[in-house]
Amino acid sequence: MFSPRSNPSPKKEEKVKKENALTAENVITSSGRYKDRADSLELTEQIRQNIDALVNKVNDLLNELGIERADVTSGFRTQSSNAATKNAAKKSNHMNGDAVDIMDDKDQTLAAKITKDLLIKHDLFMESPKHTKGARTNWVHLQTTKTRSGNRIFIP
Ligand SMILES: [Zn+2]
Repeated sequence: MFSPRSNPSPKKEEKVKKENALTAENVITSSGRYKDRADSLELTEQIRQNIDALVNKVNDLLNELGIERADVTSGFRTQSSNAATKNAAKKSNHMNGDAVDIMDDKDQTLAAKITKDLLIKHDLFMESPKHTKGARTNWVHLQTTKTRSGNRIFIP
């Protein structure tokens, strides 16, 4: 008979593992909106590592808020896609895999839950919700890159 130690059941381990709201794939393809970005030559090993670090931090934050699903409206951007994005910074953190936009509802419920203390705890920075309102959808912009001002909730 095998001992549980030498023959661990992968099924059991999966059950224990918490479901993550966000995956690197979600960030790379903007939740499947732009599947071709997974094959982009601009998606370097460094950017993949940046995305993994971002995903880990954002998942920890979302887990703490009890959020199980995140819809990425904009994750990794290629140079051409960033250039085509309205009001995007020329050297956007999205291009380095250091930022992700997550869909929020019309009342910006998610943004309201993300406090400065939570951002400090998970070492993330959030664009001021006043600046992440769209004509049809609102979003939450989270990034791992420290802002120039050092503010956790920043105005771009
Ligand atoms: Zn963004």
